[in-house]
This record gives sequence, structure tokens and C-alpha cells, in this order.
Amino acid sequence: MSANIPQIIGKDKLNREVKDLSSVNWWGMDRKEISWYPTINYDKCMSCGICFITCGHRVFDWDTDNDLPIVAHPYNCMVACQTCANLCPCGAIEFPEPREIKRMIAKAKVVKKAFDIMEPLKGKSSLSENETQTKPEI
Ligand code: SF4
Ligand code: SF4
Repeated sequence: MSANIPQIIGKDKLNREVKDLSSVNWWGMDRKEISWYPTINYDKCMSCGICFITCGHRVFDWDTDNDLPIVAHPYNCMVACQTCANLCPCGAIEFPEPREIKRMIAKAKVVKKAFDIMEPLKGKSSLSENETQTKPEI
């Protein structure tokens, strides 16, 4: 079975289907090589459930014993997304520094690959690899 076809691995506490999205490569990179996922600061969390309810990637599940969200499937998180952190009313969700994403963009040659994909639409040659380098901010 293809490693890039996400398999259903169960249901969450709201009885919603959960897929293992960690099997889907990110621009050719193994998703599990990219440490981009939320961390919950439980000292700040007020258990509203917004993160759990809204994340369509089913990164979160709910700990009914403690009435708290848990990061149940970290590698289901969409690389560079921070929606849950933006929605959290308490600022309780944290992510790695944006520099980590810049580093991954450079490592996976994302800009070059994007130019190659877009080339047929733009009707001009893609840039050279050197021209499309993205370097992490220092
Ligand atoms: S959105 Fe924030 S405050 Fe609400 S449950 Fe999630 S982490 Fe806790
Ligand atoms: S950043 Fe986006 S994909 Fe990742 S857990 Fe939050 S809402 Fe879900």
C-alpha cells in the first residue's frame, strides 16, 4: 500500500474519523523529519476546546479524565499552519520559531519546486536553483 495514501486510524472523542497524515510527504520530505506541531501550555489553557474542534487535521484529541486537549497526532499538523494558536483565546498553543520553517523550505527546495510546477501556467522558464534558494533568517 502506498505510503502517501493516509489510512484511517480511528475516531476522536467527537466521533470524527482520524487519518494518519504523517505518511504524506511534505515537498518530498518525510513529514516525521519536520518537527512542526503544536505544544499546549497547560498553565494557560482554559479547556475551551476550540483547538480540538477546529483543527481539520485531527491533531488534537480530548482527555476526558482531565478535561483538556491533547496533541494526539502531532505529525498530522500542516507544516507552517498556526490556526489553532491564532484561535486560542489564552495564548496557550506554541509552535517552533518560523526560522525552522525557513530551514525546511531551503532543505526541501520548495521554491524551486514551486516554480517548476507553476512554469506551464506562467509560460516562462523557472528560475535557476541558485535563484530560488531560501535561506533561514539568522
Ligand atoms: S484553544 Fe487554547 S484554551 Fe482552548 S482548549 Fe485549546 S489550548 Fe486550551
Ligand atoms: S496548526 Fe493547523 S493543522 Fe496544526 S494543529 Fe493547529 S490547526 Fe491543526
